[in-house]
Amino acid sequence: MTTSLKRKRTVDPAAQKVLDRTDAGGIETAYDRHDEQEPRCGFGELGICCRICDMGPCRISPFATGPKRGICGATAATIAARHLIRQVAAGVAAHSDHGHDIVNTLLHTANGSAQGFAIKSPERLYELAAEWGVSTEKKSVEEVAREMAELALQEFNRQEGEIRYPSLRAPKATVERWRRLNILPVGIEHEIVETLHRTHEGVDADYKNLIMHGLRTAMGDGWAGAMLATDFGDVLFGTPEPVRSQVNLGVLKKDEVNIVVHGHEPTLSEMVVAASRDPELIKLAKEKGAKGILVGGICCTANEILMRQGAPVVGNFLNQELAVATGAVDVMLVDVQCIMPALVEHAQRFHTKVITTSKKAKIPGATHIQFDEHTAYDTAKEIVKIAVDNFPNRGPVNIPDEKTDLVAGFTVRNTFTHLGGRYRATFRPLNDAIISGRLRGVAAVIGCNNVKKVQDFSHLTMVRELIANDVLVVMTGCAATACAKAGLLQPEAAAKWAGKGLQEICEAVGIPPVLHLGSCVDNSRVLVALCEMIREGGLGNELADLPIAGAAPEAMCEKAIAIGFYCVASGAYVNYSPAMRVLGSAELTKFLTEDIEEVTGGKFSFEGDPVKAARLMIAHMDKKRAALKLRPMMYAPVTPDITK
Ligand code: SF4
Ligand code: SF4
Repeated sequence: MTTSLKRKRTVDPAAQKVLDRTDAGGIETAYDRHDEQEPRCGFGELGICCRICDMGPCRISPFATGPKRGICGATAATIAARHLIRQVAAGVAAHSDHGHDIVNTLLHTANGSAQGFAIKSPERLYELAAEWGVSTEKKSVEEVAREMAELALQEFNRQEGEIRYPSLRAPKATVERWRRLNILPVGIEHEIVETLHRTHEGVDADYKNLIMHGLRTAMGDGWAGAMLATDFGDVLFGTPEPVRSQVNLGVLKKDEVNIVVHGHEPTLSEMVVAASRDPELIKLAKEKGAKGILVGGICCTANEILMRQGAPVVGNFLNQELAVATGAVDVMLVDVQCIMPALVEHAQRFHTKVITTSKKAKIPGATHIQFDEHTAYDTAKEIVKIAVDNFPNRGPVNIPDEKTDLVAGFTVRNTFTHLGGRYRATFRPLNDAIISGRLRGVAAVIGCNNVKKVQDFSHLTMVRELIANDVLVVMTGCAATACAKAGLLQPEAAAKWAGKGLQEICEAVGIPPVLHLGSCVDNSRVLVALCEMIREGGLGNELADLPIAGAAPEAMCEKAIAIGFYCVASGAYVNYSPAMRVLGSAELTKFLTEDIEEVTGGKFSFEGDPVKAARLMIAHMDKKRAALKLRPMMYAPVTPDITK
């Protein structure tokens, strides 16, 4: 198909330039493979096919005629709910396994058996120890770290009681609601195992019962696995501070060795950044004709090394093949999650070496170098050397010019500091701004790119609509990268796009209207911030009272579904698009988008138009504002100028 006949695929001009070249060169990308999949199977899209047992696959007819039950008698609602909570379990497993690896690395570091790692934030470790009731008296940092890591590992396979964080951090009324609903997990793995059991052929057939267990399973992500990944990542690698950097394909350097780290876990990428600064390797790079070594990131690994190292971001999920197609990537280093297997074949068209590093994520045709904490720095040096040696093998290089400045690295603690002033770290100014009507509320816009949508368009459009309506936006993951590319993560963005009330806050405090809170596991930082807002007072008693909303406007993976589930379990309104695969069951869709609000205080919507979705989120915030009897909004919304 010629370029002119192709559908619009991205609003990122750098991505478009590379796509024009891949089109011209007949080089396949995810967009082409997407088109090959059309037309999609309607049963699959609607969530009404089942292949759980070998009597199937069974399909439920969405029309007046045709089968209304599978061979075993499962209805559309049962089938869709079973498959949905299996997706939740997979998402929880992905985030939690990530958390498990971080805790394990801390344990190895405390035991002195992790090469190159150090406990960079003993302060955060001591804060957590105090919170968890662990005595630090007469103990070394390593002893405290070991004890904390061992306790943290119990969160994964605890067999009775409940996970630790909710009762420590969430408002009392919210915890009571969770206990009443019986959606506090016993342990992370306990609920995943139970999900797989309940959804096995011939077990749970009640769609509401299935969804309630999906909520309980998801709580083990946001309030356990992901929260541990964030907290223990901060202990190990340092608590992020606001940092300036740059984003987009233009950060790649024609005259330097380019290593792109792609995936999720910060353990190896932190070491690779350190190795790239090794004088011996820089000298070697110069001998090969390069001026230096650049390490940039894609997907959530990018967010991890951005927040803590200020490393540039090469792009988000749909940029992975495009980065290789610049011809400038000497090594694409991957660990786990969001890595397209197509990368290997794609890279063979260029000189790029794809290196897998996790025993959990091998790709046929890639070079595999197993990462091990015990030899982490040696492994990182070996990989950097491979990239340096590959530099002279480059063919034609075409790096788009586009790159944008950004500020990232906000956390609950430093947002406190920003909002309250250095000597008055408090959420009071945020709460007061909401109470007085200067700010409408807070929205978390998170998640991926999805090739079914125009890359980044929904993120940008939704976020501009929200900030124009005086909604402070917090972002993580590839959503944050999308908005960073468009300049929304700069303090100057407030004057261009924000409503007057949000502008006043941003100008007074010196923050962007859109705060980058990190990677996908760092959505746990959002949960903690919401708890702080309730604790500060004036905005209700439980999380469901807050004028807040969440959205994943270009959602792609099971992790995003898990995040949506723990947010709804926590009382949030969540717009999720493309819709979860439930639309083939009217009763399940109604439960998720209406009735569940009576249960948890939160609910889903599946609006695909980002402006309409933003307005639904705003309407929800206004409903909560009215219930709290907050003052009317101070200023009328501005119309976002998308030409800026
Ligand atoms: S579990 Fe029931 S609906 Fe699913 S494949 Fe088996 S018989 Fe069909
Ligand atoms: S936001 Fe989605 S696509 Fe991006 S890294 Fe996270 S899970 Fe992957």
